[in-house]
Amino acid sequence: MECLFCKIINREIPAEIVHEDDQVVAFEDINPQAPTHLLIIPRQHIATLNDLEEGDAALVGRLQLTAARLARERGFAEEGYRVVMNCNDQGGQTVYHIHMHLMGGRRFTWPAG
Ligand code: 5GP
Repeated sequence: MECLFCKIINREIPAEIVHEDDQVVAFEDINPQAPTHLLIIPRQHIATLNDLEEGDAALVGRLQLTAARLARERGFAEEGYRVVMNCNDQGGQTVYHIHMHLMGGRRFTWPAG
């Protein structure tokens, strides 16, 4: 298995894991772009958003619910935060295991760069 995030899930490479359950794992981004920058990923290896199927709808919902819960736990839910999923090269995706970026603790601008 060559996937970096599968290796994090399997504890083959270290990461600062902040949440895990039967379907989802969340950990600190190694190159944070905000005071809090977490990555929320499914245990299941899915390369890109384009590979999601109808049956994955609940799993994607779990990613989003996990982001909202972590934002509440970190104390920035009310002031606001940014959630991003990049898809493929032009979308800025660099790791091909879907992941939700949860960033908080500063003001974000729009449109994203
Ligand atoms: P993408 O560009 O695919 O949307 O996001 C990939 C994210 O993974 C980047 O924010 C990058 O900093 C993070 N990342 C890359 N390699 C590692 C790693 O080995 N450990 C952790 N914790 N994050 C990583």
